[in-house]
Amino acid sequence: SLTAGVVAVQGDVEEHADAIERAAREREIPLTVREIRTSGIVPDCDLLAMPGGESTTISRLLRREGIAPEIRAHVEAEKPLLATCAGLIVASSGAGDDRVDELGVLDVSVERNAFGRQRDSFEAPLSVDGLEEPYPAVFIRAPVIDEVGDADVVASWDGRPVAVRDGPVVGTSFHPELTPDSRLHGLALFENDDATIPTLERSA
Ligand code: GLN
Repeated sequence: SLTAGVVAVQGDVEEHADAIERAAREREIPLTVREIRTSGIVPDCDLLAMPGGESTTISRLLRREGIAPEIRAHVEAEKPLLATCAGLIVASSGAGDDRVDELGVLDVSVERNAFGRQRDSFEAPLSVDGLEEPYPAVFIRAPVIDEVGDADVVASWDGRPVAVRDGPVVGTSFHPELTPDSRLHGLALFENDDATIPTLERSA
């Protein structure tokens, strides 16, 4: 069975765990979810999610607990990572904030809290590459992706990229864990051709 890890130092962890479990069940993939609060767990994980929450807090705890280098190694091994909202900020290569120590595993620059300044949160039907029907995207004090380096834009809203893919890493400025629709988790974690899921390969 696969092991999924949800970075659980802070943020909406349960929701990610639920979405991953649903996406796995739909594909009849046996899977166990582990919460990551200390070092030593990420190396056992086949796939990872890094949730929304507060990016400065998540970043500080990842560094303090020694989890940051483990996530970098996970991505170097081409295992999938879904990073949402604050998770995207932490995964990025430029967050424009001294309090965030970016992991640099997703080649984009972001600006915190910059999306939809008029309305702190909103929901939008999003066309996503690889999904047939629009995805209900929930934005909450979302980061703007203002520079895309060596990464593909998978979805845009209002002329701005809001979902990007850099090899095994998918980042979204919105919160796919906050809707009952697990298609985005499926796409990022089980159907990303640029990522390797060791156990699935073995059984194939
Ligand atoms: N505003 C948060 C931050 O900058 C991110 C928002 C979220 O994850 N909902 O860390």
